[in-house]
Amino acid sequence: MKPFHPTPKTLMGPGPSDVPPRILEAMARPTVGHLDPQFITLMDQIKSLLRYAFQSKNPLTFPVSAPGSAGMETCFVNLIEPGDTVVVCVNGVFGGRMVENVTRAGGTAVVVSDEWGKPVDPQKVEDTLKAHPESKILAFVHAETSTGVLSDAKTLCSLARAHDVLSIVDAVTSLGGVPVKVDEWGVDAIYSGTQKCLSVPPGLSPISFGERAIAAIEARVSPVQSWFLDLSLVMNYWQGDGGRSYHHTAPINAMYALHEGLLMLHEEGLAAAFYRHQSQHENLRDGLEDLGFSFLVEPDYRLPQLNTVRLPEHVKDEAAIRKSLLEKHDLEIGAGLGALAGKVWRIGLMGASACPKNVEKCLGALKEELG
Ligand SMILES: *Cc1c(COP(=O)(O)O)cnc(C)c1O
Repeated sequence: MKPFHPTPKTLMGPGPSDVPPRILEAMARPTVGHLDPQFITLMDQIKSLLRYAFQSKNPLTFPVSAPGSAGMETCFVNLIEPGDTVVVCVNGVFGGRMVENVTRAGGTAVVVSDEWGKPVDPQKVEDTLKAHPESKILAFVHAETSTGVLSDAKTLCSLARAHDVLSIVDAVTSLGGVPVKVDEWGVDAIYSGTQKCLSVPPGLSPISFGERAIAAIEARVSPVQSWFLDLSLVMNYWQGDGGRSYHHTAPINAMYALHEGLLMLHEEGLAAAFYRHQSQHENLRDGLEDLGFSFLVEPDYRLPQLNTVRLPEHVKDEAAIRKSLLEKHDLEIGAGLGALAGKVWRIGLMGASACPKNVEKCLGALKEELG
């Protein structure tokens, strides 16, 4: 056995995205203790940079020490008590996982279904909230990575407020790629991931909870079923002037990477980052359409960072093409999921991957492979 040296790849799938050298270098800095005063200072800076990314003043904003799925679970297990009703919008894979989270936490999921490739329909959500006045929470995915669809988070969160339910928003793929306005939209609980539009290696899940969500946690009569994700315990480590106490050993070097990635986002500015995703999407779109691909999703609610395209007629063995993209061009793109498997590709332009060099590389490689 020898040390592992992977071949550098161009990552244009549904995540992880390309990690800039600056972030990888940050990760290689000396490991310090998880209660070292220097590390506590870093934790505070991460919280403040995350508030910038989420466009929020929420004090309860920090990264959960595990990937996006753990952020999802943190929201559900802290806000649901056995017997609670949760309206869950399902228009792709990740909405389906939310349903699973609700039932495992002892809640009852009332599902609002929309076709894969379409956004969540606010009218159906409103009708469902009216029909289920016992509902405590409305949960939906802002950017569905399985299809490339953006849902109208602002409208959905205002419906949640109007019906006095809490909102849980999946912003794993949206954060850093398209606007996510936690305070302006009145989001109650939100989670994201590091390996999509933040271009940080996978393994952490930024979350943010507002006052109404915290009040719901404080009013719980039963303990949170997960010890590790119980916010009332984790917060003794992430909050508190002066005294912080051990809850778990934070993945120290992963936090260095997140800090560096968030610094880069702050230096570029949110507006510039959103513009870069959009303009690279437009370049890729034009090139793909020239090659005979067509988009699954209408332009009005199409994600710039995740391009789901139907394959040209003459392509018979799509898996073979993805294989040669990876083997001959060191280029990774994503396959279709569920009913879309074999019919579409998902080409990501997330974070640092949303650049002219990647767009050119992808179009050039496809031209060669499609003949
Ligand atoms: C990737 C993703 C997740 C899960 O994140 P992991 O880091 O893979 O656990 C959840 N929701 C959406 C929308 C995603 O794209």
